[in-house]
Amino acid sequence: MQLWSFASGSDGNLYLIESEGTRLVVECGRPYQQVLDFLDCYGIPPESLDGILLTHAHGDHSRSAASLAHNFNVPIYASWGTLGALPLKERALGRPLLTGKTISIGEIDVKPFAVPHDCREPLGFRFESGSGRASITTDLGWVPTQVVRQFRDLDLLVLEANYDPYLLQNGTYPYFLKQRVAGTHGHLSNAAAAEAIAACGDRAPKSVWLAHLSEHNNSPKHALQTVSRVLRRYGLSHVKLTTTRHRRANLQWNSTSAFARQLRLFEE
Ligand SMILES: [Zn+2]
Ligand SMILES: [Zn+2]
Repeated sequence: MQLWSFASGSDGNLYLIESEGTRLVVECGRPYQQVLDFLDCYGIPPESLDGILLTHAHGDHSRSAASLAHNFNVPIYASWGTLGALPLKERALGRPLLTGKTISIGEIDVKPFAVPHDCREPLGFRFESGSGRASITTDLGWVPTQVVRQFRDLDLLVLEANYDPYLLQNGTYPYFLKQRVAGTHGHLSNAAAAEAIAACGDRAPKSVWLAHLSEHNNSPKHALQTVSRVLRRYGLSHVKLTTTRHRRANLQWNSTSAFARQLRLFEE
């Protein structure tokens, strides 16, 4: 199993997961031409995609999904709530996902689960194949126990670490936005992400990509410091941590080598 982060954050999210010949784009929130450029840069013809998976309908996750689906005849897998919000002219391209019901797309089993976020039926995803286990879970206000369960025994967890509470409170966001970000249906703080990883105990993921970092209320340094401090306290300092980048491809992970390497930075 391989996973790439092509972009992560409120300016657009785009990941790719591949296993045993099955290729899925997860989120499609960058401008359409940039999505095509990313795929082209890594030698992936859009028509070779087996599906586009969306966690929810916010623009930073769904922006170019309908165009990619229509132009290359690629189905979109998402909750009914998300599908209903998309400008999908060809309804047959929409494949509904039900919470807790695992589906197989090619060689990858996808388990969608509910997360608390201010959108209709938002989801997180757990992926399993013959060669690895991973999850992409961003955009959630807090981490319910049933979500922590989806993080157990993973090779790679891509988890939101959106904000540092001090930077958020003392930053330039208007009051209502601060309330929204920190609310139960907003985004995860660095400490909350760390506690969710720690709650897996000795079944914690081997590697974690801290993702969807706020550009205003967080930094890779803040996120890594906070999360590693908490994990150390729980005796989990062996969990490998790194951070995704905004608007740029920066990480590729391969389950066979359990190795995440920095990609040649893809210039905008
Ligand atoms: Zn988002
Ligand atoms: Zn969102």
